[in-house]
Amino acid sequence: MSYTKVTCGEMILNQTAKIINQASKEKRNTLLETEAKTILTEYNIPVTKSNLAKSDKEATDYADRIGYPIVLKIVSPDIIHKSDAGGVLINLKTSSDVAGAYKKIIENVKKYRADARILGVLVQEMAPQSTEVIVGAIKDPQFGQTVMFGLGGIFVELLKDVNFRVAPITAEEAKEMITQLKTFPLLNGYRNTPLADLDALIRIICNVSRLVMEQPVIKELDLNPIMAYPKGAKAVDARIILE
Ligand code: ADP
Ligand code: MG
Repeated sequence: MSYTKVTCGEMILNQTAKIINQASKEKRNTLLETEAKTILTEYNIPVTKSNLAKSDKEATDYADRIGYPIVLKIVSPDIIHKSDAGGVLINLKTSSDVAGAYKKIIENVKKYRADARILGVLVQEMAPQSTEVIVGAIKDPQFGQTVMFGLGGIFVELLKDVNFRVAPITAEEAKEMITQLKTFPLLNGYRNTPLADLDALIRIICNVSRLVMEQPVIKELDLNPIMAYPKGAKAVDARIILE
């Protein structure tokens, strides 16, 4: 596995403070996926391309522009776990799939929670399947901002194979968080699993550490899942909870 020194550079933040202020003004402590991903982009964390559609026509226009396959997701301040509400439909291959899925998502969400405020549907590039990893952060009452790394799905839920470090985290510590997992071989080419780009994952951990240190009002952050590729990595979902 290759490893080069990764540092987290300076960056210009235009939207982050605005989004956080707006949410606190509305007394809303959970950011929308769109808001969370705008913040991540400002912190150089790669996310799936997406556009917010307000009608099925807008959804198909965006889908044609982004390219197929497409994922649609509900955007609602009242729906935190989107798939539980039938609010995520993946692998949509044509514009008529997208139009149908748009209506279906609205219908599912209304059935799930009749009073949910629906801001629209996110039209998103579908990230190719790969090994799924999770980067999380939590503000510990004793230690402060703490960052977590693990493999997605059963590895976190069942095996609890995750590593935590107190922020700020250096690139060297981020590397250890990854390589010291019991499941690390699954990122390192074990039995035909794709070789993950370690530098890309280190960069994400570093940038998350920097984000939660610079924005102490963040109480919880959850990038679940991140697709880990042989070259690069991309967050397909993002949740940020404020104090
Ligand atoms: P939630 O966690 O709120 O239910 P997600 O955005 O994580 O919603 O979507 C649920 C699942 O759908 C993800 O765990 C992932 O497996 C898949 N998924 C979501 N968005 C994409 C995407 N853009 N590309 C590929 N798969 C996706
Ligand atoms: Mg998710």
